[in-house]
Amino acid sequence: MYEATDRYRSSFLDPASGLLRPDLLEERACPVCGDSAQHKLFVKGGGQYVRCASCSMVFLNPVFKDAALADYYRHNTAAQAAAHGSEEAFYRRIYGAGMDLAQHHVRRGDLLDIGCSGGLFLDVARERGWKTFGIELNEQEVVIAESKGHQVWNAEIGALPTERRFALISLWDVFEHIKDGVGYLRALADRLAPDGAVFMQIPSADSLAARVMREHCNVFDGLEHVNLYGQATINQAAQRAGYDVLAIESVIDELKPLMNFLAYEHPYQGSFKPQPGLDFLKPELLHQRKLGYKMQVLLRPR
Ligand SMILES: [Zn+2]
Repeated sequence: MYEATDRYRSSFLDPASGLLRPDLLEERACPVCGDSAQHKLFVKGGGQYVRCASCSMVFLNPVFKDAALADYYRHNTAAQAAAHGSEEAFYRRIYGAGMDLAQHHVRRGDLLDIGCSGGLFLDVARERGWKTFGIELNEQEVVIAESKGHQVWNAEIGALPTERRFALISLWDVFEHIKDGVGYLRALADRLAPDGAVFMQIPSADSLAARVMREHCNVFDGLEHVNLYGQATINQAAQRAGYDVLAIESVIDELKPLMNFLAYEHPYQGSFKPQPGLDFLKPELLHQRKLGYKMQVLLRPR
């Protein structure tokens, strides 16, 4: 699956420069604060990551034009459902943590999962008493989720009936793919029931793994992950979109790849060996300081 993905992605690269094809790209200002001043960080997979000089947001710039990005996803057949199959226990645990966070603030009702894939998160939500709905653009995954009894739209959220409102809208590893996150959040507010909330899990630019490993960290892919938020920048994006942040939790320590990297090994290959002298790096310590690989964030319109 990964080789096919690499081949597919390389068709969007300029063979001479190794960078993304210039005809597909556009320059942009900071997606959070709008400032145009930025510092270059590094190139990963042909894409240039930069950091906003004003608010510290990390983002891809230049970035695919909207039409090019839509075209990229339309023809990309790598299915998330396959990944779910091999690591179901991991996903169930992380989905359960997200539900715990949401249920602390939101009363059970209708739940819409955007990018619901084969519906594994919807299964977990239904087991906890939610009425489950999904949006998924991959037709094969729609079929899988529907076969389990979830109602799924094979369309963008704008195509849903306007009177439809949800107590909770969830975005698992989706929001970092959206170029105009602030605009997207504003649109989602119209889809929430009174006292409804938006839940998201996103990779964290604050994470120790991202900050130490930089372009060697899987958070950065150079094409799909267009916006990498940290605690401060997701808070600022939420405020600009008219939301308050109810909670931010740090999840996934990512210590194994980090330890491998600190042992001069490939972070994601080979077996994990504990590193003497680095045993002070413990999961609890990382999460207390919000240095985990991903953040789970709950937002409510003001
Ligand atoms: Zn900024």
